[in-house]
Amino acid sequence: MSDNTEKPCHKCGHDFNAHMLKGYGSPPTEGWMECPVEGCKCDMTWSLGKNFDSKSNETNT
Ligand SMILES: [Zn+2]
Ligand SMILES: [Zn+2]
Repeated sequence: MSDNTEKPCHKCGHDFNAHMLKGYGSPPTEGWMECPVEGCKCDMTWSLGKNFDSKSNETNT
């Protein structure tokens, strides 16, 4: 068993904890990850998901 808490990034496989979290807005509700490994283009995006289900609020006329 491994005791360390390092998790591999789902996208690129590098240490997820080393990724830098970047976001748009204040407070940020979505953004992207920057992998510190040189040459890696992780570009994993994240969001709080507020927009995902909001379409159920739309009314059909
Ligand atoms: Zn990476
Ligand atoms: Zn990554």
